[in-house]
Amino acid sequence: MENNLEKIVSQIVSSANKSDRDANNIKLIAASKTQTAERVREFYDSGHKIFGENRFQEGREKIPLLPADTEWHFIGGLQRNKVKDIIKLFEWIHSVDSISLLDEIEKRAAHAGKIQKILLEINVGGEANKHGAAPEDLLTLVRATNERQHVELHGLMTVAPFSEDLEEVRPYFAKLRELKETAERETDSILPELSMGMTHDFTIAIEEGATMVRVGTGLFGKRNYGKTE
Ligand SMILES: *Cc1c(COP(=O)(O)O)cnc(C)c1O
Repeated sequence: MENNLEKIVSQIVSSANKSDRDANNIKLIAASKTQTAERVREFYDSGHKIFGENRFQEGREKIPLLPADTEWHFIGGLQRNKVKDIIKLFEWIHSVDSISLLDEIEKRAAHAGKIQKILLEINVGGEANKHGAAPEDLLTLVRATNERQHVELHGLMTVAPFSEDLEEVRPYFAKLRELKETAERETDSILPELSMGMTHDFTIAIEEGATMVRVGTGLFGKRNYGKTE
């Protein structure tokens, strides 16, 4: 386990060096879906305290079992009827992709007296089976977010189409970076975060500007979907 963590961290450092970036500006989010709280705790005890969960139900079980200074990111598909509970548990939500979700977060965060940190998820590959807003809708979403008082927009997130050939994935990461730059210019906003890259493609994502990478199997090993999916 510690070996996996060391290995991923050193790959982050070498990808950062390769692209003249500071590895300290790249946050490793351990994608802990299907992993037990005990396994998550092992990572916590070895010094890694940032985790991402995909499902509210799983988060609700694990989060109370970890120390309060663990940083939790919600990275899965967001359902409106779960927003109320998700904002109580998660510091970050990566998967906001509609005005109606924004409105729900605004309403629930206002009730809870919280400013919710979010990213807008963009479906850069236009894949029917993926979450995320269409690139054409980005400016509308950024402007709508900027009008909400209890939602703080920090950047964009994507899950790129899968390909064995990483050079085929690279243009999707480059596209998210370009979308971010356009949105910053057109809406006069600052969007520092780009959440992109998973186990098989995070090195390329870093070369294209990722500030958050979400790594699951590379840290925990293969997932056992038996119970949860
Ligand atoms: C599961 C998951 C990851 C991590 O995937 P791995 O291939 O196991 O690294 C990253 N992002 C999202 C949105 C996920 O659902």
